[in-house]
Amino acid sequence: MKLAARVSQVKPSLTLAIAAKAKAMKAEGIDVCSFSAGEPDFDTPAHIKAAAAKALEEGKTKYGPAAGEPKLREAIAQKLKTDNGLDYKAENVIVTNGGKHSLYNLILSLIDPGDEVIIPAPYWLSYPEMVTLAGGVSVIVNTDVSTGYKITPEQLRQAITPKTKLFVLNSPSNPTGMVYTPEEIKALAQVVVDADIYVVSDEIYEKILYDGAEHISIGSLSPEIFQRTFISNGFAKAYSMTGWRLGYLAGPIEIIKAANSIQGHSTSNVCTFAQYGAIAALQESQDCVAEMLAAFTKRRQVMLERINAIPGLNCPKPDGAFYLFPDISKTGLKSLDFCNALIEEHQVAVIPGIAFGADNNIRLSYATDLTTIEKGLDRLEKFVRTHI
Ligand code: PLP
Repeated sequence: MKLAARVSQVKPSLTLAIAAKAKAMKAEGIDVCSFSAGEPDFDTPAHIKAAAAKALEEGKTKYGPAAGEPKLREAIAQKLKTDNGLDYKAENVIVTNGGKHSLYNLILSLIDPGDEVIIPAPYWLSYPEMVTLAGGVSVIVNTDVSTGYKITPEQLRQAITPKTKLFVLNSPSNPTGMVYTPEEIKALAQVVVDADIYVVSDEIYEKILYDGAEHISIGSLSPEIFQRTFISNGFAKAYSMTGWRLGYLAGPIEIIKAANSIQGHSTSNVCTFAQYGAIAALQESQDCVAEMLAAFTKRRQVMLERINAIPGLNCPKPDGAFYLFPDISKTGLKSLDFCNALIEEHQVAVIPGIAFGADNNIRLSYATDLTTIEKGLDRLEKFVRTHI
């Protein structure tokens, strides 16, 4: 069969592949310690499930508006105002099938063939693939541990050309867990405004912050940056709702209308009764978010101490999300070889940094229980000691 050319340009998701391999090994009865999943291991909070179940019972089982249930769009606009200082109305918001889909809708709505999109590396692996699918060009800007894996205003300025359309900002970051300070965000915003480009702020980990780190939404800084900002967010990480497929895009009305047209011909509305779970997530108690954060905080401490105690590994302390991104270069192994050997020899699943554009690192998710963390790190330590 002759497939469309775009298929060969897109790489399958390495994170999904490794998580699937770990699951398959587990199903075969193999004792695998998996640090691969990008999803909280908690069940969705009961009140959120109850709200969706009630909507289902009440017959909210039909097609709805492609852009989402009006009540949910309203609740999201309110959330963006209260939490993030962003002055959006419901019509500035579209409900999507996850944060991934909101980014995809945005890229398809904004990027023409040849348009350049600036993506700091290490990056979440789907950004460049989405740009490729739209025919755009990803301009990858490499960062390293010396700046906490964060792009500097100078680097951003230098990467901008007349073809630049969009800059992708992800804070807290997947895969590094790093969080941009308010001052850093301000400086990046100034570059975006000066160059008259757009920025998409992927804020999916905004609620998972440690040690007093602050999340600042770039669009809240001034009217000039606000009109050049798109917000992508979702319910997966903060409320442990990964399988619900609920996210949203917010921004100027033209982009929401464009995304709505695309969505209207591709997926239509997100599952109607699921959207009622999302309304409950936003409008009812936020204690569940704090409880999950408390568990992540403890795990992060244990993981970080154990990893940095392994000779040959070096990991900065992340301020957000639930990932660690240690440097493995002292082992002499490239990331894919490291990960393949680790899972084959010690049954520990981690993600190779190459998937995120950083071949000297691996990503470990601590969205898993402390027993697995202790056991998995014993194995990781054994493995690394044989390679240095
Ligand atoms: N953005 C980042 C940085 C992510 O890590 C993820 C999920 O792993 C997403 C967006 C998309 O999340 P979802 O589509 O599950 O809402």
